[in-house]
Amino acid sequence: MTRQPASSAACFRLEPADFGASAAEWNRWEWQFTHRIHRPVDLERIPWLMRDEIDRIDRVARIYPFAVTPYFLSLIRWDDPEDPLRRQVIPNPAETPSADSGSLDPLCEKSHTEAPGLIHRYRDRVVVLTTHRCAVYCRHCFRKRLWKEPPPGDDAIRWNKVIDYLERHEEVRDVLLSGGDPLTLTDDRLDEILCRIRRIRHIEILRIGSRVPVAMPQRITPSLCRIFEDHGPIWLVTQFNHPREITPEAARACEQLTRCGVPVNNQTVLLRGVNDQVDSIRELCRGLLRIRVRPYYLHQCDPVSGTEHFRTPLYKGIEILSGLQGTTSGLAVPRFMVDLPGRGGKVSLQADSFVSRQGSRVFLRNHAGEVFSYEDPGREDLDPGSGVVRAFA
Ligand SMILES: *Cc1c(COP(=O)(O)O)cnc(C)c1O
Ligand code: SF4
Repeated sequence: MTRQPASSAACFRLEPADFGASAAEWNRWEWQFTHRIHRPVDLERIPWLMRDEIDRIDRVARIYPFAVTPYFLSLIRWDDPEDPLRRQVIPNPAETPSADSGSLDPLCEKSHTEAPGLIHRYRDRVVVLTTHRCAVYCRHCFRKRLWKEPPPGDDAIRWNKVIDYLERHEEVRDVLLSGGDPLTLTDDRLDEILCRIRRIRHIEILRIGSRVPVAMPQRITPSLCRIFEDHGPIWLVTQFNHPREITPEAARACEQLTRCGVPVNNQTVLLRGVNDQVDSIRELCRGLLRIRVRPYYLHQCDPVSGTEHFRTPLYKGIEILSGLQGTTSGLAVPRFMVDLPGRGGKVSLQADSFVSRQGSRVFLRNHAGEVFSYEDPGREDLDPGSGVVRAFA
């Protein structure tokens, strides 16, 4: 690889030519997917990585595998060892601490599995794991445990059981296809899965959870969009975590999706050293609205083994939300969600705006911390601040 003198940040980034790719190849998702960087020898192509660093990455990758598309790798700025994009995809020795307090499955997904790869935790909606493969393996992934398990299998028997379960459960109206990344499947496979689920009368909407718009935007092709159009309403839920992930390629992918009737929502994971600053989340959420993506959730990073170094204290998320409220469009403000370990499910957190009550007069705190009184037409015994608290173990 030849390098220009290091005069600007661009010089510390890989380009298509560094991977020997023509423009046409670079823009094909099949090329991106089959040329993923996943072995230590692949890392030797990166001129700014030292031998000892490659060895460290290799040691972690033996426990938690890694894979990154050339596209996502080209967004990393290698002159910054703490680059927020690098931190999300390059293995870090912190993933394998000697004593780890995390759990492999804190949300007890295994115990909510009702059919192979089908998680039914909330009454009207289910998650179906389609594959264990992803375009990139995010180091903070809460399903890290699955990477080394055998894939759920695309086999007919498994899907027959899933479809049978969905047919028998008329209370389910929302099916969330997840994984792994469902958009690593071929068009034909996706068409078949969507078609089978669509035939079930009581399923109203389909959701696809995919990081492909961020990690491999080339996957959003006209033929994929046609499939989505055929089987709508489909909602796509993606995961942009940092403003620099909003590239022209990612914008094009999201705009193609919206154009074919697929609303795109975003779930950001709050990650230490990646996006745990109000300014970073504000820039991210405003950028998302510009490409017509709605910031849906900001997730507290779950206590999953191998992700401890990403976790932030709960007050961080609340502080970030407070920093957004009143300083930007309400549309740009996601909800801050915490998934309770065990059977608790998701809880949304925000700064407490209720201060006190005097008769029918309620005192509420606004985004700037000022307290105002409000005449409440409600009843005192239904006071939001006087709720009885019971703790569940
Ligand atoms: C998060 C989750 C859902 C979807 O929840 P929404 O709040 O509707 O987005 C569904 N099932 C399971 C098991 C989940 O963890
Ligand atoms: S794309 Fe999603 S499922 Fe895949 S590694 Fe990243 S967070 Fe996990």
